[in-house]
Amino acid sequence: MEMTCPCCKNGDTYEGIGDPCTFHCRTCAHVWRNATLPTAYYGCCTGRNDNLPDLEKKYTDRLKGIVRYLRPGQRILEIGCAEGAFGAQVKQQLALTYVGIEPSPDAEIATSRLDRVHRIPARELDLAPFDLVLAFHVLEHIEDIASEISHWRRLCKPNARLIVEVPHRSGNPLLNNDRHQEHLHQFSLASLAILLDHAGLSIIEASTGHFESTVYCDSLRIIAQLEATSEQNRKELLSRFAACLAGPFVIYGVGGDFRNYVEPLLGELPVAALCDSSAKQQGKVIGQHRVSAYDPAALAKLPILIASTRHAGEIRKSLLAQGVMQQAIVSLDQIYG
Ligand SMILES: [Zn+2]
Repeated sequence: MEMTCPCCKNGDTYEGIGDPCTFHCRTCAHVWRNATLPTAYYGCCTGRNDNLPDLEKKYTDRLKGIVRYLRPGQRILEIGCAEGAFGAQVKQQLALTYVGIEPSPDAEIATSRLDRVHRIPARELDLAPFDLVLAFHVLEHIEDIASEISHWRRLCKPNARLIVEVPHRSGNPLLNNDRHQEHLHQFSLASLAILLDHAGLSIIEASTGHFESTVYCDSLRIIAQLEATSEQNRKELLSRFAACLAGPFVIYGVGGDFRNYVEPLLGELPVAALCDSSAKQQGKVIGQHRVSAYDPAALAKLPILIASTRHAGEIRKSLLAQGVMQQAIVSLDQIYG
């Protein structure tokens, strides 16, 4: 039977040997089963988390992974929140709103711990987008993972982080195949990254070795965010220039870094002059400016952007020697860093 990989969409796949019947992708190393759990399956499960041993170890690992993304007043969504114990720990850190999705009756306990708990799937949830969307050990349970991710993406604000953790396929060498009946997918680092990338999400961070349980002790976690459009990037860059260089400023250096990182925005920046110490560059006309040597007498009061990473140190030294104040000098790394 010919199958298309649900992550990379490549048809170079093969059927695995043995039971349960699995399909393997030669391109992204994803393994999956063509199985469906009855719709009512999770509606009958209870005690999904609270009674497990090593719970604190798991939550400590998760909290460590997300704490740097927490801000007061945020709205967080945890898909598959079980009894809400992790959310309760997050809520102890900061004043924020924590919403859960949990199809099982564990939702009743979670309701007492979190701000709101929904028992409907993410695809049916019509809520304002969130700052942080968490899904720990959920995706491997879902049949149509591409569709599911598109709904998680829809629930993310433009700057939100989406944190997805799943068992790591190669993280347990003692199991040829994950036979857990609820686990329809076995992800590799590549397959999860490609799935998220195809959904328009950029990978910020990928790590392995996260503790879920004694069996799934090496889990794979990816932190992603919505891919910014070129317009969003342009606006963000302009706001960074404005934050570092208020009012008209001088650009020092019109070489490669200038052409790559500054010139595309030149028409929108309040540039007073373009300077370069190289005789080869002086006299060139770029936009509305003619490149000249830096003239401290004429430009002394204006802040200066050093548009060269390679020569930043020597340019800064030369400007300081000419009496320019340290605080008037801005480098590219302050804008792009
Ligand atoms: Zn694949």
